[in-house]
Amino acid sequence: MPDAQGRLSPAEIEFVTGWITRQAGGAPPNCPVCRSQSWAVLGQVTQGVVYPYPVSGQHPVLYDIAYPHVGVLCTTCGYTMFFNAGLMGLYPRPAAGSSNVLR
Ligand SMILES: [Zn+2]
Repeated sequence: MPDAQGRLSPAEIEFVTGWITRQAGGAPPNCPVCRSQSWAVLGQVTQGVVYPYPVSGQHPVLYDIAYPHVGVLCTTCGYTMFFNAGLMGLYPRPAAGSSNVLR
C-alpha cells in the first residue's frame, strides 16, 4: 500500500507496470495520442474527487470522499492515463456490505 503521503515504493511501481501490461494483453499499451509505448508510472497517488461536493463549500478531500488513482505518463507526448488504485489492488477493498466506494 502506498505510504501516508501516497508515494509508491519501487516494488509498487513495478507491480503497477506489470498490472497495466497484463490488462493490455501482455505488452505496454500504445498511447492514444502519439502511439508510443514508452510509459512512466508517476510516483505518487492522485485523487479524483467526488462531484458535487457533499457539503457546500467544503473541500471533498478533507471529508475522505475521493478516488485514489495512479497516473501513467506517456514519456513522448505527456498524455497521462489514470487507473483506480483500489481496483488495481494497491488499497484494501471495502468490507462486504459497505459502500462500493474504493478508498
Ligand atoms: Zn503519447
